[in-house]
Formats: sequence, C-alpha cells, structure tokens
Amino acid sequence: MHLCSAHLIEQVIGLTRQRIKSEDLIHPGDRVGIAFSGGKDSTVLLSILARIKDEFPFSLVALTIDEGISGYREETIRVAKTITGTLGIQLDILSFREYFGRDLDEIIRNSGKKPCTICGILRRRALEELAEGHHISVLATGHNLDDHAQTAVMNALSGDVKKVFTGTGFSPRFIRRVKPLDRVLEREIVLYGILTGIFHDLPECPYAGTAMRSEVRQMLSGLEQDHPGIMRNAAKGEEKLRKKLAGKYHMEELRSCRICGWPAVADVCPVCEMLGDWPGASGRT
Ligand code: SF4
Repeated sequence: MHLCSAHLIEQVIGLTRQRIKSEDLIHPGDRVGIAFSGGKDSTVLLSILARIKDEFPFSLVALTIDEGISGYREETIRVAKTITGTLGIQLDILSFREYFGRDLDEIIRNSGKKPCTICGILRRRALEELAEGHHISVLATGHNLDDHAQTAVMNALSGDVKKVFTGTGFSPRFIRRVKPLDRVLEREIVLYGILTGIFHDLPECPYAGTAMRSEVRQMLSGLEQDHPGIMRNAAKGEEKLRKKLAGKYHMEELRSCRICGWPAVADVCPVCEMLGDWPGASGRT
C-alpha cells in the first residue's frame, strides 16, 4: 500500500495494537519491561507502547543492557536517556562490567567465538536479571517482521527443530517474552521513526555483519523486493509449525546449572561455560 504520513503512522500503531490484542500479549495490570537498546526498533516500540498503554492499561519500564562496546554503546545509551526522559518512562541500565565483571570487548578478545553469539547469550541473562529485579511480568522486545522471517529461515537451515520454540516463553521458569512489532516490516519502522521525529543518527555496532544473520538478512531483503510478502510467509509458516508441534514435541527438561543455579538444559549453563569464574557463579539467590 502507498500511504501518506498520517496513515502510515496510524497503520504501524494499529498493527501493534492488533497484535497485542489478537495474541493476548499484554494483560491489564501487567508490568511491562521493554528491552531498550536505544536503537530504532526498541525506540519505536517504546514510543508506541507509551502511547497506547492507558488503553489496556499496563505500566512500562525501559531496561537497557550496556554490553561495553567501545565507540558504540555510549552514544545509544545517551539517546536512550533522552528518549525515556522525554516520554516520562523509567529507565534502568545494567552493564556487563557490573554483572559479569568484564566488558564484551574484553570477553571477545579472549574467546574464539563470534561476537554476536557471545553478546546474545550474555545479554539475555543480564536482561532476565534486570527484569526480575523490577518484578516485570512481561518482557517486550523490538523484533520486527524482518527479524522474525530471518529467524525462521535460520532455524530451518539449522535443522534443529527445538529452535522453533526458542524465545517463545515456552519455559514457565523464565519471564514471558512478547514481540508486539513482529507484524511490522523494518522499513515501516524506520519510516515511523523518521515521520514522528524520534530517530537519532546512531552509530552501527562494530561487530554487526560478523553474524550469519546479516547474510540471511541480505538474501531475504532481495527476495522481498522481487516477491512482496515473502517475509510475512516465512514468519507465518514458522508460527503454524510451532502451533502444530505444541504438545507433540517435548523440550528437554530444565535443571539448575551446577555453578550459578540458573535454569539450564545442560549440567552447566551457557554463561558459566563461556565465562567460567564470574561474580554470579556463586549461585542464584
Ligand atoms: Fe551484540 Fe552483535 Fe548486536 Fe553488536 S551486533 S549489539 S555484538 S548482537
């Protein structure tokens, strides 16, 4: 569709509201934590949820993880402070240095793993910790339709069926996660941000582009140009598969990591396996 500015803004808000209602993502009285990086997706999510929260109603807290990426994160955190201040939303920040005892830059120097693999595992844990401290009932992330389609394709390429359930809140021992923007294309999000004047010129993470996701992203963007709707099909296809497999496919039982006590599928969780001795290794309270 070709939309004017006012209708494009209305369409993005409408898609988000509809997704929340049709999938029952947020309930009245929920305390919603937004995984807020200060980047384009989470900024648009914050702006829309701040706009519609009284309709449900629910309360909002912005949660930011400072991974310690030199020349990049300082600026996005500065922007995160400005935006939350303007919208009147509480912001809390937890850094890798504070929680894991070292920055991402430092961890990467001593590891043979890809930066985004390390970052993803550690950020997920830090975010859970921060959200628990704020008694968050639901954690909202800014994943958009492009992300969703990329994940569906990457999951299919991995051949690992259980990945279909990753990040869906399948385990009752983690805070429920929702993705209210997962029906909105990345380019619609960018347009929304430009038209509403909430975007700032941000640097790109120096490690972006080192992950396989960036190759899948490029491939899907090209396909979407020639075959509009292909990303929506990929995302919906995985959702259908998840619904069909629910109850039939049994996830591995969660146990407690023998080092930190956090829920894990193996004897040692991925964080302890990666960091060995870290401040949280003494056990979860
Ligand atoms: Fe972390 Fe990779 Fe994202 Fe950079 S691009 S913030 S390293 S996940």
